[in-house]
Formats: sequence, C-alpha cells, structure tokens
Amino acid sequence: MQPISAVIFDVDGVLLDSPHEAAWRQALAGLAEPGRLTGELYQAVVAGKPRLDGARAVLAALGVPEDRAEDYATAKQAVLSAMIAAGQFTVFDDGVAFLRDLKRRGLKIAAASSSKNANRMMALIELPGGGRLLDAFDANLCGCEVAHGKPDPEIFRRAADALATAPAQCLVVEDAGAGIAAGRAGGMRTLGIARHGDAALLVAAQAELVVTSLSHVDVICLHEGRLRARPI
Ligand SMILES: [Mg+2]
Repeated sequence: MQPISAVIFDVDGVLLDSPHEAAWRQALAGLAEPGRLTGELYQAVVAGKPRLDGARAVLAALGVPEDRAEDYATAKQAVLSAMIAAGQFTVFDDGVAFLRDLKRRGLKIAAASSSKNANRMMALIELPGGGRLLDAFDANLCGCEVAHGKPDPEIFRRAADALATAPAQCLVVEDAGAGIAAGRAGGMRTLGIARHGDAALLVAAQAELVVTSLSHVDVICLHEGRLRARPI
C-alpha cells in the first residue's frame, strides 16, 4: 500500500462551522418556505457543491421552478457575506488540531473548497501559538475557477498537482457525499467526517473511513498507507 503523504481538506463542515446552511435557508424566503430546507436535505443535495449547482438542487428538491436558481444563489451569497462579516462562524478545534498534527509529522497540506468564501473566513481564524489558518496550507485551491465542481474531481486533482503528490498518496477529508465522490473519482483515499449524525450518507458515498471527530483518526500509521480510527 502506498504511503499517505498529503492531505487535502475541504473547508466548510471540516475545518469551519460556516453559516452556509443558514444562509441558504434565509435566502429561501420569498421562493419557498425556508423551513422546508431541513438539515438532512441540505447535507444530501447542497453541501459541497458550487453555489449555482446547490441552488438548482434545492429548488428542484422543493419543486420550485429552476429559473429562479440564479436569483436564489445571488441572494444566498449576500446573506452569507453579511454573516461572515458579522463573525457568525466558528472553527472546529478537532479539525485544526488534526491539520497541525499532520503538518508536524511532515505531511503536505492543501485546502480545496468549492467556495470563494472559505479564504475570507480562514483569514479571520487565529491559530493557537500564532498565525492564521489561511496561512497553514502548502497549497490553497479554495474558490479557484474549475470547469466542473464536486463531485467532479478537478479541484482535488489540481490540489494534488500543486502539492506534487500522486493522487494515490493523497487523502481527501470531506463532510459531504459529493466531496467523497470527487475524491474517489480522482483516485484518492477518502476520510468522511460526520458531524451531523449523517455517517450513513458518507458510507453510502463509499468513504474509506468515517469518523465523528477528526481526533479519532490514527495519524501515526498514515505514513504506512493505513487509514483507520485510533485503537481505544
Ligand atoms: Mg464541506
């Protein structure tokens, strides 16, 4: 088995508890009842996708004509921007501790979020001991223009290229089924983080390992290519 020598992080839902879901819901008023966008529906059809794809998926699931998707996506971005400016997001401490542990052990680290907002948020996160989360990566592909969003593997492939690492030696960390599918399509190893009781979605997407906290991952044996939870 090849060693795992680089780790590519999705950001929203993995490193940051960001307000995307709330913004989608708030922006839905006027098009449909916001309450109909449940957390379950959000994780199943929106999470991880580029903005316009997410808008289309919500409207299709709620039976609203798709020609409203651009308006919806624009409204969502406006709501989200205001939430970010107001500091309405937090960092997942287990995610940051995991990332720092990997770096200490010499693994290369990339960020690969579909969202153009990820860098804005990460610039505002100070790490324990100094420095910003935004500056913790060896490569940062967040919000870069890709021809195809997740579940297409393009953004992850570009991250692997930027890290000069073969896809088979890259581990993708994702909270969304679309992201796990993208990692697998890119020929990478996949780790699912289920923070919302939605492990079944990540298992269905065939994540190699699913955990409920990134502190559960056995970091020591990654260099042997083994991906497993820590023995308890
Ligand atoms: Mg995500």
